[in-house]
Formats: sequence, structure tokens, C-alpha cells
Amino acid sequence: MRESDPVTKIRGIGEQIRKQLSSMEIETVGDLIRHYPARYETYASPVPIAEVTPGKICAVRGEIISDPVTNRYGGLVRTTVRFRDASGTIRLTWFRMPYIAGSLKKGNVRIARGRVTEGRYGLTMDQPALADDAGYEALMEHLQPVYSLPARISQRSFSKWMRAALDALDLSEDYLPRDIRERYQLTEQNFSIRNIHFPADEKEMLSARRRLVFDEFFQFILRARGMREEREQQGNPYHFQADDWAERLIRSLPYELTGAQKKVWSEIRTDLLGSRLMNRLIQGDVGSGKTVLAALALATAAENGWQSALMVPTEVLAEQHYRTLTRMFESAGIPVRCVLLTGALTAARKRKAQEAAASHEADVIIGTQALIQEKAVYDRLALVITDEQHRFGVQQREALAGKGSGTHILVMSATPIPRTLAIILYGDLDLSVLDEVPANRTPIRSCVVGPDKRRTSWNFIRRQVEAGRQAYIVCPLVEESEGVPAENVKDYSAAFARAFPGIRIGVLHGRMKPMEKNQVMEQFARGEIQVLIATTVIEVGVDVPNATVMMIENAERFGLAQLHQLRGRVGRGQYESYCIFLDGSGDPMKNRRLQILNQTEDGFRIASEDLKMRGPGDIFGVQQSGEFHFQLGDVYTDAPVLEAAAEAADRILAEDPRLESPACRKIREEIHRKAVWKEPAL
Ligand code: ADP
Ligand code: MG
Repeated sequence: MRESDPVTKIRGIGEQIRKQLSSMEIETVGDLIRHYPARYETYASPVPIAEVTPGKICAVRGEIISDPVTNRYGGLVRTTVRFRDASGTIRLTWFRMPYIAGSLKKGNVRIARGRVTEGRYGLTMDQPALADDAGYEALMEHLQPVYSLPARISQRSFSKWMRAALDALDLSEDYLPRDIRERYQLTEQNFSIRNIHFPADEKEMLSARRRLVFDEFFQFILRARGMREEREQQGNPYHFQADDWAERLIRSLPYELTGAQKKVWSEIRTDLLGSRLMNRLIQGDVGSGKTVLAALALATAAENGWQSALMVPTEVLAEQHYRTLTRMFESAGIPVRCVLLTGALTAARKRKAQEAAASHEADVIIGTQALIQEKAVYDRLALVITDEQHRFGVQQREALAGKGSGTHILVMSATPIPRTLAIILYGDLDLSVLDEVPANRTPIRSCVVGPDKRRTSWNFIRRQVEAGRQAYIVCPLVEESEGVPAENVKDYSAAFARAFPGIRIGVLHGRMKPMEKNQVMEQFARGEIQVLIATTVIEVGVDVPNATVMMIENAERFGLAQLHQLRGRVGRGQYESYCIFLDGSGDPMKNRRLQILNQTEDGFRIASEDLKMRGPGDIFGVQQSGEFHFQLGDVYTDAPVLEAAAEAADRILAEDPRLESPACRKIREEIHRKAVWKEPAL
């Protein structure tokens, strides 16, 4: 088997499953083995039979007290025995495994592990795995991979396919030269991929992980350097001379630009009017006012007769920017023609938008990845801006830079990362920092509470709604998910609606159709929806100044930077705003992390405190904060690996800037192998 083979080569994967895997962007065997576990589980110690929880997977230790009985049940062969410990009895049941009867001896003491149900015959454990004491002890030391999967694919099947793929693949050829592996003490690729899935113990898993994280960073950095090199060869073919429209826009604003905004605008302006192509990143915390800077750049391009594209990570944000910018240009009295182009548009509207782009009826094209994904045709495209860059995956960022090669590029991000890391990660960009928030803001009142305060919080929201305000409630999940003890939008919104039938609520999550999402968001923006119950799809960019409460369920499951982003959705208008972090863990350590948010609204401080508190052992404990979408790597906790990867990249490029030598050829192939376009998972 080869990595490029379709997944259907693996036994047990047919068309149905292929489709489901494809929805997770797993098409080939190579994609499959690079779908790493989200976390690991160890087998828990057995519990007394009297203490098992129906619905859950449990392990119990006891004695087989009956001879096995095999009969037919609902057309299936069923084998059962009774099982007992000092606290009670339970029935063990296997379907379609008649041969198991041979190994079930009355009087044997075993550990049985499986899902417990409670029915007419009392407690039953279905399809349990049996082990003796020594065998179970060994299992308890093993880490069992847990993958993030859609509900229809079971962990068990997925692990089975993974094993089959790993058994059939030859991964012995390592693209990374031996001297780099030795210098940075990296395990071999073969070992690493096998052990990230099925590690013998934690130590092996961590060393496998370190190598794979290195790979992610290393390849990313090399690609970025390659792009910079390419761009530096080019001059600025776009002669921007006039900037009156930007001046008019600034004068028409209902506020004065902050000092930081003025400084960054002058940097952008210098790029646009200068002799070199702009290639710039604006880093500015939530609410620091990045949109207006984009507007100024767009207006300048339009005034000079050039087209621009503004790309954002979500449909919702695209619509919002379209509305905001159109309004801004209108009130400044400058004729910048905007058009919206997203996947959510009807075919007819989309075609019209594409025509407007191609014929230059539109100066500014605003949209999602559809902008560059679909073969959108532009006329005199000279400027490409991405907003909320941190929500784009690494690959999108590359695709954008690739598409935009030869245009001015402006990238906006709210990720508060230390400058040293920013320079590595955005190695191909110049950096502008927007380190000041508009002065008119009132601080957001934050609090961290436990689930016992949920009711009080709901009542608080009700009072805010009665006063004419709006609220967000964020849940980690869309719907109930087996084994994940966290709130989900579906059940939660039903419960909220029962409690407050008079409140108009809306739900929003990534599994809704783009069109539905937009409708909900528009209704929220118009105030027709009063409480929006959502997943983190609302994390970025959304600007509804009338919303004054952000309540986050299971706040302990999110990274602090992400919580900070979510909180940034409120406190945008004239009203006093509130953020309620609901900690569902009861874990004082997690609570301490959340308290940082209580103490400060400074994104940089939050990020650095977060970093201090997250030890290496924590890597799988906290949902990745979504800043840089590396599969495994976390730019904060893996900062030493990031630095090593940057050093290794420098070393290689110093010797062979274009990776042309035979030794570097494999590296080059590896880098280009995966540079495909993918939608980020929202
Ligand atoms: P960001 O994208 O950086 O999170 P936005 O551009 O959405 O922030 O701006 C947040 C809010 O602040 C918007 O409602 C915007 O109109 C307002 N705003 C931007 N700049 C200023 C300023 N200099 N003074 C007052 N309000 C501002
Ligand atoms: Mg924004």
C-alpha cells in the first residue's frame, strides 16, 4: 500500500465510509495516518459492580458464576454469562461471537470492560473485552488513542483502519536528513507516526509527538521562506499615487483614529505608494480597530483604479464586513463599489458577483475562501487583505500568498503572540503592531462561576434582554457527544427556551448551512434574535454593539486566547458589558487559569500567563486555542521546538537556498506534497 492510495484500499472501508472520511478531509491512506489522536485514554481501574454507570464504558473485576448460554436473539447469535463480585452481579453479553463460549469457564476470575446498559434483566455489559489481572494491568499502562471523529464513525473501527494502514505501509524512508535528526534529537518518521497512534507509553508518545511537531513547523517555515524569496524578486508594479479618498474616509469617521491606528496606516500607506510590494501583517488585539485600516487600504487601491479582495474565514464575517464597509464608503462620499462573494450565495447572485469582479464593476470583492478557491477572475487585482488570519489554517495562508503573489498583501490578526514567535511564524511578512485600543471603551465586567450559578446567570441575561440588550451563550459542542462531558447547543437551547419562552433565541453552529448561518446572524444583528446560543463560530470578528453579555459554558475546555477572543464580542458599544465564564470542571487548577481572564483584558498578558501555566504535560488537556492550525504543534507550549525548526531551516537554506541538491530534494517534495487547499473546520 502507498500513502497516495485512496482509503478504500483499506479493508473495511467502502463507499459509505469513504464519504464520511472525506468530510474530515481524509481522502488517502496518507491523510488517514496523519489524522492524529486528539488525546489518549488509559484503561481505568475496575470499579465494584454496584458502582457502574449505565451508558458508560466501565471495567469490573469478578467471577464467572454461570455456564455460558448461547441462543438466538433477534436473529443474532447471543452468548451470555453471569458475573459477580462482592458488591453485586451483572450479565455479560456477546453478539455474533459464539466461539467465545469456549473461553468462559465458571469460577474464572476476570476483568470485563465494556459499555453497561440497564434493562429488563438488570445490568448488562455488552461485548465486553475480558482480561486476566496481568493482562489488564498491561492495558492500564497503555495509552489508547482517542480521535476526533464524526458521530457515525466509532473509535474502535477507526483504530482498526489505522492499524491496518500502518501495517501495510512502508514508512521507512525519512525525508528529514539524518544529521538534522541527530542534531535536534528527533525520532525517525516511521517510529513517530506509529507511536503517535499506538504508543507503548507516554514517553514514546511524547518523543513521537516532538518529531511530528518539528515536521509541521519545519515545513511551514521553509514554505514561508520560499515565498518571501519569490516576492522579493518582484518590484511594485502597482503605482498608487493618490490617497485623497483615504483622507476623506478618515475625516468622515465618527471617531478620531487612535495613535496606533495612525502609525500603522502610515506604514501601510508608505508600502502602497512605495517602490516595493506590500507584504504586511497587522497584529492588533480584539477591538483595536483593524477594520478601518483595511477600509483605508481598499479605498486607496480603488481610487487608483485597482481592484482588491478582502478575505475572511467565515460567511458571517464576510456579510458583516460587506455591510460595514459599504456604509463607511457611503458616508465618506467616496465611490468604492463593493461586492460580496461567498459560497452561501445563490448561484445567480454568485454569478453576478463574479461578473462584477471580472468586469471591474466592483472595486472591492469581499468574501470567504471562495474568493480564491473558485476560479474567481479579477480585473487589475492589486491588493489582497485577509482578516482574522489566525482563523485560517496554515495552508490557507499559503494558498493566499500564492494566489496573491504579485499583489500587495495585508494580513490582519488578533493573535497576541510574542514578537520573537511572530517573526518566525510570519517569517515572510513585515510586522505592524496595533498596541492601543480606542479610548472610549468601558472595561468588560468578567466573572468565573460554577454550574450552580447557571440559573442566576440566565436570570441576569433575561434582565439584560428586558432592558433591550442582547446576549451570546457559547457551548463547546453542537450536539451530545459520547464521552464528552460538555454542554451542547442543541440540548442547551431547548432547555433555555423552556426556561424563558418569552425570549427570542437563535442557534448558530458550524454544521448549519451557510445560508442559515447568515440568516441567523443577520437576525441577531437586527436585534430580532435576543439570545444567540452558539459554538465558537462566533469567535471571530462579529461586531454587534448592542450585545452586552457573553456567557461561556465549559470555559475550562477552551484556550485562554480563544476565551479572550470570545469576550471581545461584547463591550463594543456604549453599554456596560459582561462576560460570564462558567467553569464546569470543579478543578482548582483550571479555575486558576480562568481567573487570569478575570484580572485582565490585555491579550498579550493573557497569552503569556497562559503559557506560564500550561506545562508540557498539559498539551492534550486543553483544546488548542486555534491560533495557528497546526495539527499537533502549539506555538506557545512547543516554542522550543519551533525555535529548533527555525534554526534547522536557516541552516539548510544557508547551504542550499532553493533546496536543489539531491539531499534537499526530498525535503522539497515533502513540502510541496501537502500544499493543497482546505477549508478550515469551524
Ligand atoms: P477589530 O477588528 O480590531 O477587533 P473592529 O475594527 O471591529 O476591531 O473595531 C471594533 C469597534 O471599534 C468597531 O465598532 C469600530 O467602529 C470601533 N472603532 C474602531 N476604531 C475606533 C477608534 N479609533 N475610536 C473609537 N472606536 C473605534
Ligand atoms: Mg475584526
